[in-house]
Amino acid sequence: MQFIDSHTHLNDPAFDLDRDEIISRKVPQAGVILNVEIGCSAEEWKPALELVDKYPSSVRAVLGVHPEYACKINADSLKQLNTLLSDPRNVAVGEIGLDYTCFEWTSKEKQLETFSQMLTLANKTNKPIVLHVRREGEDYAAYEDCFHALKHNWNGASSTRYPGVLHCFCARYEEAKRALDMGMLLGINGCFTYKKNEYIREAVKKAGADKIILETDCPYLSPQGKRGQRNDPSNIPAIAQFIADYLNMPLAQLAEITVRNTKALYGLK
Ligand SMILES: [Zn+2]
Repeated sequence: MQFIDSHTHLNDPAFDLDRDEIISRKVPQAGVILNVEIGCSAEEWKPALELVDKYPSSVRAVLGVHPEYACKINADSLKQLNTLLSDPRNVAVGEIGLDYTCFEWTSKEKQLETFSQMLTLANKTNKPIVLHVRREGEDYAAYEDCFHALKHNWNGASSTRYPGVLHCFCARYEEAKRALDMGMLLGINGCFTYKKNEYIREAVKKAGADKIILETDCPYLSPQGKRGQRNDPSNIPAIAQFIADYLNMPLAQLAEITVRNTKALYGLK
C-alpha cells in the first residue's frame, strides 16, 4: 500500500538530528512514497528546493508566505518568490491564507495584504494553492475573509485537476462546502483523530473520501495516541486507518483515492 504526505515541514529544526534517517528509511518503510515540503517564509524557500535536490524521488516543494510571517515580507522577497515559483521543483503556492490566532506577530491588515499578493502570484503562475486558515475560537471570520479574498482576487488554477487544498481542515461542513464548491480538496491530518473533534469527522464524512488528501503537517499535530510527540510522515498510515475506519471503507481504497487526489492536485506523475 502506498501513501503521500501532502504537507510536511521536514526542514524544521525538530528533524536536525535524524532528518536523513526519517526521509531515507522510516518514511518509505511505512509506505509513504512522497512528501510535499512547505516553505513558509523567505528563509525556508531555498532549503525546501534543496530538500528536493537531495531526495528527488521522494520530496516536492511548495513555496509561499504563511500568514504568520507576513510581517517579514518585502518587495525583494516578493520578487524572489515570483521567480522561484516557476521552478519545476515547486508544485504549488503555499501555504498562504489567514491566521486569526497570531495577531501579536502580524496584523489582520498585513495578512490580508500579503494574502492578496500571494493570490496575484498564484494567478500569474497558474499553480494550485495550499490554503492555511485558522480561526480564533468559535469565530469563523478568518474563513469568511478568506473566501471573500478568493472570490475577488483569485482566478483558480487551471494547470492541474484541482485548483487548491484547504490544508489542516479543522472546521464545519459549511466551510468545507465553500472550499469544495470552488473545486478544492480538504487536507486531513491528526486533528481528525482527536476525541473532541467529532464535528470535523462529520464534515469529512459528508464531503466524502473523494474530496480529501492526507497530510501530517509534521512536526506538529501527531495523531491520537502519539499526541505531544514529534510528528513525522510515517504516521500517515495511522491517520489513514483512523479515517478509513470512520468512513467504513477499506484502508487500501482510501490510500488509492488520496494518492490519486494528491497527484492530481500537485500535477505529479
Ligand atoms: Zn504547515
